[in-house]
Amino acid sequence: MPQLHTLGFPRIGVRRELKHALERYWAGTANREELDATGRELRARHWAVQAEAGVTLVPVGDFAWYDHVLEWTCTLGAVPARFEQPADQPGELDTLFRMARGRAPTGAPAAACEMTKWFDTNYHYLVPEIWPGQTFRIARNSLFDQVAEARELGVNAKPVIPGPLTWLWLAKGDAYDGADDIAKLDLLPNLLPVYEAVLKRLAEQGVEWVQIDDPILVLDLPQAWRDAFASVYATLKAAPVKLLLATYFGALGDNLDTALSLPVAGLHIDLVRAPEQLAPVVAALRADQVLSAGIIDGRNIWRTDLDAARDRLAPVAEALGSRLWLAPSCSLLHVPVDLAAEQQLDDELRSWLSFAHQKLEELALLGQALNHAPGHAGTPSQQPSQQPSLAATHAAWAAQRAACQTRRTSPRIHNRALQARLTDALAIDRARAPFKDRIASQQAWLKLPAFPTTTIGSFPQTKDIRGLRRDWKEGAIGDAVYEAAIRKEIAGSIAFQERIGLDVLVHGEAERNDMVEYFGELLAGFAFTQNGWVQSYGSRCVKPPVIFGDVSRPAAMTVGWTTYAQSLTDKPVKGMLTGPVTILQWSFVRDDQPRQQTCEQLALALRDEVLDLEQAGIRVIQIDEPAFREGLPLRRSQWAHYLHWAVDCFRLSTAGVGDTTQIHTHMCYSEFNDIIEAIAAMDADVITIETSRSNMELLKAFEDFSYPNDIGPGVYDIHSPNVPEVDWMVQLMEKAAKRLPRERLWVNPDCGLKTRGWPETEAALAKMVDAARFLRSAA
Ligand code: GLN
Ligand code: ZN
Repeated sequence: MPQLHTLGFPRIGVRRELKHALERYWAGTANREELDATGRELRARHWAVQAEAGVTLVPVGDFAWYDHVLEWTCTLGAVPARFEQPADQPGELDTLFRMARGRAPTGAPAAACEMTKWFDTNYHYLVPEIWPGQTFRIARNSLFDQVAEARELGVNAKPVIPGPLTWLWLAKGDAYDGADDIAKLDLLPNLLPVYEAVLKRLAEQGVEWVQIDDPILVLDLPQAWRDAFASVYATLKAAPVKLLLATYFGALGDNLDTALSLPVAGLHIDLVRAPEQLAPVVAALRADQVLSAGIIDGRNIWRTDLDAARDRLAPVAEALGSRLWLAPSCSLLHVPVDLAAEQQLDDELRSWLSFAHQKLEELALLGQALNHAPGHAGTPSQQPSQQPSLAATHAAWAAQRAACQTRRTSPRIHNRALQARLTDALAIDRARAPFKDRIASQQAWLKLPAFPTTTIGSFPQTKDIRGLRRDWKEGAIGDAVYEAAIRKEIAGSIAFQERIGLDVLVHGEAERNDMVEYFGELLAGFAFTQNGWVQSYGSRCVKPPVIFGDVSRPAAMTVGWTTYAQSLTDKPVKGMLTGPVTILQWSFVRDDQPRQQTCEQLALALRDEVLDLEQAGIRVIQIDEPAFREGLPLRRSQWAHYLHWAVDCFRLSTAGVGDTTQIHTHMCYSEFNDIIEAIAAMDADVITIETSRSNMELLKAFEDFSYPNDIGPGVYDIHSPNVPEVDWMVQLMEKAAKRLPRERLWVNPDCGLKTRGWPETEAALAKMVDAARFLRSAA
């Protein structure tokens, strides 16, 4: 039977035990022993689950207190001086927490390390900091301790560590210019001896296999980086362990020859994202090498079509015999822990889903099937006794096959009427009149002053508001009470905005807990889990909705709240929607049709909402697309295709309105220089962006492109409770006006204010309005 393994398991725990333990420890309500106990318990539980499912090489080192990259950074001793404290023990856990969060129960606070997205996932890692001449040493023993812990429990441990080149690629430093700066490679002579020492120590602990993660092999690599792989692995080859080189999230592509030429004992490839690489890899594999086939989707929550997987792998199993291993495509970190924790999903929907626990079962089923594949050794009667009975295996296989079949045909998924509409939608004109004509007709009724002021949508989500929504969801209060309470919030925020003199108002988003769930709950084709948590960073988890079927909008979603807000004021109220790409990016998306098609369905549903808002008299409408950039594929060659359909979907949502209706969009945490053409092609009348922390530097892309439409560069950081000074905001706007025509500029914060309190929000917005007034008077 093929060896089964996983690249990593979710560490957070099915009840988010790690989150709760961490937060207690940080708050000082639990001590270090209690935190350690939770970590030990989670590791033991997760190792046991995997071993029981038949996983023979169990990952160790995938556990992390905050982030696995940060764990490794600390192991390498790459701790910037600002985090070192005289009282710290070597490898002190609080040092790690200070790097992650800027503070910890012990030691002085310091500016936290930067955090950014892990490849194209919604997981965030802590960016390692590097500098020329940096030295490394084994500074933290947690990996070795955990290997010992696993071995004591009888677990066959396969340590998992980031490869030296991937770690350097992910690192940042003032002396380096971007991820791919070849100057980073100068650190290898200092870094590699530590890797060798780590591998040697692991071997001494009895470890046979070590998994080295080098996902940068699926990126566009400069030749110098590609070349560095050969020398790095030539060095690591001397270590007394077998190395499994793990690649995931895409195709090796032009790095295929590099990966295949390395002196490693095994290679893991992602066959979900890049099925086409199976044949060339099998053909080129050396006779002493193992192929780990990443065949179960580690990035999504659908049951695998096991028949198809078996058919694809059977010839490989025959050719490679025990040199074929089976695995999920990547670490299971990116899927929820266990479907068994869901009580509210109906049986059919549930039969389509697979979380980390279920993926282990799928792996085991596939392993057994390949064992019995024609031409392969072993007949059903020779099945080892510790494996599930053949009848149980057959039943599980049949159930999985039936689930895949109903998913292909279920009317809950496939909506004929909608599909016809989608075909018609191809003919819909996505173009609006030229911007200069539109803006003139908008200005004719809006009559906004120069430097108009607005906000991005949300106002503080107070305890009361959150409690209100919870009570309503749990049925503790009825619809009428709930609606009256939300209306009261809206009325309060409209009155506040009028009082301080904002120009374009918002209703404040009190009815939403986040940007996607509210819409998902009102759209057909979406499902929600109770416990489908996935780690986003540290103790923070998200519960992405599941888009399982064709998406449509049974009824208006925001018209009631928005028209109510508009009824309270003569100023324009801006309707507020989340864009199709962002809804797509922050959900688990069906895999039975291209993402583009699902996005078009979302776009059509939003188009209906936009037109209903317009019909109801809402003539300024914002469609947020903060995740627009996140959707970019890992390979440059695929960017144009993505940008084309993403822009097209935005335009499908928006282009139905008349010239006098003003379309806004908003994007945060984004760079624009390499996507500015697409941003311009979205053709929003106004785009508001996060710029204050970059000191308006992000506007350079718009300047260089001569971006033609209106733009609101954020003038203050909403992540901080600090109230910005009027002068400061005026200065920022003056900087903006050096780059872009004054008459195109709006004044607004960087992003929504939902995480802020009211006192600082009131103070900050009042000052922002003062800044705009000053700018007008100076003009
Ligand atoms: N309208 C949303 C808000 O104000 C936008 C949030 C975002 O861009 N992340 O909260
Ligand atoms: Zn934002």
